[in-house]
Amino acid sequence: MENITEVKALLSYPKSIVITTHRNPDGDAIGSSLAMYFYLTQMMHTVQMVIPSEYPEFLEWMPGVQEIVIYDLHQERSKELMEKADIVICLDFNGLDRIDKLGEIVNNLTCRKIMIDHHLDPEPFVDYVFSDTTASSTCEMIYDFILAMGHKQYIDAIVGESIMTGILTDTGSFRYSTSPKLYRIVAELLELGVDDYKLQDLIFNSYNEKQLRLLGHCLANRMEILEEYQTGIITLTKDDYAKFNISRGDTEGIVNYLLKMKNIKMAAFITEQPTIVKLSLRSKGDFSVQAIAQNHFKGGGHKNASGGASYQNLEATVKKFKALLPQYNQALSPQH
Ligand code: 5GP
Ligand code: MN
Repeated sequence: MENITEVKALLSYPKSIVITTHRNPDGDAIGSSLAMYFYLTQMMHTVQMVIPSEYPEFLEWMPGVQEIVIYDLHQERSKELMEKADIVICLDFNGLDRIDKLGEIVNNLTCRKIMIDHHLDPEPFVDYVFSDTTASSTCEMIYDFILAMGHKQYIDAIVGESIMTGILTDTGSFRYSTSPKLYRIVAELLELGVDDYKLQDLIFNSYNEKQLRLLGHCLANRMEILEEYQTGIITLTKDDYAKFNISRGDTEGIVNYLLKMKNIKMAAFITEQPTIVKLSLRSKGDFSVQAIAQNHFKGGGHKNASGGASYQNLEATVKKFKALLPQYNQALSPQH
């Protein structure tokens, strides 16, 4: 962490700090925000969390979430808090378009900005970048950051559980992006009293009946398998959203079910949102979905998990996506 000396100096006496993270925040976005919040609060900083859109219901149990100010619901207050900040810390995203309208506000701020993130290709909108694309999660990086600050003693059970939440969600319970270093960190967290069984249950066994039925609907009625390209697609229409009364977070993780098929290398979850069509892409092994998201759907992310958007309708978007497959045929064809 090459900038750590300067950041240490910056944080050496109490400051007013705003933490922000990407829209439609996941466990890593909220976990890293809360871990940082509890860490910096212990250091006597005045800390606020301001994020673009609501967090999903399955994270409602997390201590501290009720402190989060949501721009969509409290625009003036969010802007005010941002404008009063001495420091803004951007977690789990690396481009201002990932925080919607807050991006414009952050861009106009003259205060110091810090980014801690594990996505590819960080944009240069901050003063201090901590980027580690080999990290499983931003939460893993928060652990590294606190250690680099020389503050291991501040990682208590509550900071630890926040960090563990992002690790569990971004690795899909240690199914991807793992490393010896990650397991060492996790071992340390367990020794601090982090209850991993409790967290796994809270995070992954949180479906309600509607969500389970929606998953059934996706798999039974909305799934298409393109064997030739080892690709699976699930689509959801606006009508589905209305019929199942789908809200934010209800569709979390559905895309991963496609990868459970033995020969599927790429999974696409394509959904009709109020103004855009959203794509969630996943892949297994060497095949990267990042390029497809970045080059064709104004998005990005990681090699095996990316997302993007389309401004055409659902049908046209699916057609466009399918038309791209021959181009990526080499990497996707079964004999490869
Ligand atoms: P998800 O499919 O769960 O929404 O996102 C998967 C990954 O892709 C996440 O790491 C997320 O940060 C990234 N991602 C999702 N949507 C977008 C997008 O619109 N733009 C960019 N740059 N990244 C995205
Ligand atoms: Mn993440």
